[in-house]
Amino acid sequence: MITSYRKQRSLSRPVETRGVGFLTGADVVIKFLPANDNHGIAFQRMDLAGTAPVPARLEYTVPRERRTAISHQGATIEMTEHVMAALAGLQIDNCLVQINAPEPPGGDGSSQLFVDSLLKADAVEQSAPRPCLTVGRPLHVAAEDALSEVSCRPLSYRSLAIGYHLDYGSRSPIRPQSLVVQITPETFLAEICFARTFILESEAAALKAQGYGKRTTAKDLLIFGPKGPIDNTLRASDECVRHKILDCLGDFALIGCDLHGYFDAFRSGHRLNRDLVKKLQLTHAATEGISTRAGAVA
Ligand SMILES: [Zn+2]
Repeated sequence: MITSYRKQRSLSRPVETRGVGFLTGADVVIKFLPANDNHGIAFQRMDLAGTAPVPARLEYTVPRERRTAISHQGATIEMTEHVMAALAGLQIDNCLVQINAPEPPGGDGSSQLFVDSLLKADAVEQSAPRPCLTVGRPLHVAAEDALSEVSCRPLSYRSLAIGYHLDYGSRSPIRPQSLVVQITPETFLAEICFARTFILESEAAALKAQGYGKRTTAKDLLIFGPKGPIDNTLRASDECVRHKILDCLGDFALIGCDLHGYFDAFRSGHRLNRDLVKKLQLTHAATEGISTRAGAVA
């Protein structure tokens, strides 16, 4: 069911920040510009002259390992998820995000860099209502190997709650951890936005061998060796699961509206997160179609 419980919001003025891209090592300036009602979130590659903004929507996502990317008419933006989480967490619905590289700056691997920049402007309420999709019945998607899954179900109150359960087995240096957070701008700022990307030492070495992350070190994000984070300390004992909830929020936001319901993930990654909201979108469209026909008959 789609209804609305608040007005759309944008920024009072443009803001920007800068940093180094994790994948390409590019120096990146990222600008957040106010946008009109119903614009949504879109990313524009300013280094590719004349290319149009790419809407940050499910329809524009392209397959990637361990990250989310969007693409349209020759312009591709890699690693949108931490920017999307910052915007969704702060309830900024309409914004044009301009970057001069294939990816946003990596910052510290969390959403903190983007949140700090966005908070330099005020969030301003606009005229149009913000659509909200309320989960009407349970839905579930799982990986082919059944090792990861994500589901959603109705909640008895109007809210988005995300639960994540992380368990990589007893040999992993990352211990099992679970958390449920009811997402509001306040809880996002206090509990989620600071949580950094994490990766195993072996995975980081494999990425470097492929030419990625040449300027990224263990101080820039969480790289786990056998005894825990290398050259770094955790910001919370369960920082990893908090980051997974951040990723879920950023991926779910690609549906382009608010969500009300309980989302529950076990070891899921970006692809599965997107698959669930795609299924939710399709199920909703089908339900609306049925109710429209029923209305016509009545
Ligand atoms: Zn992430």
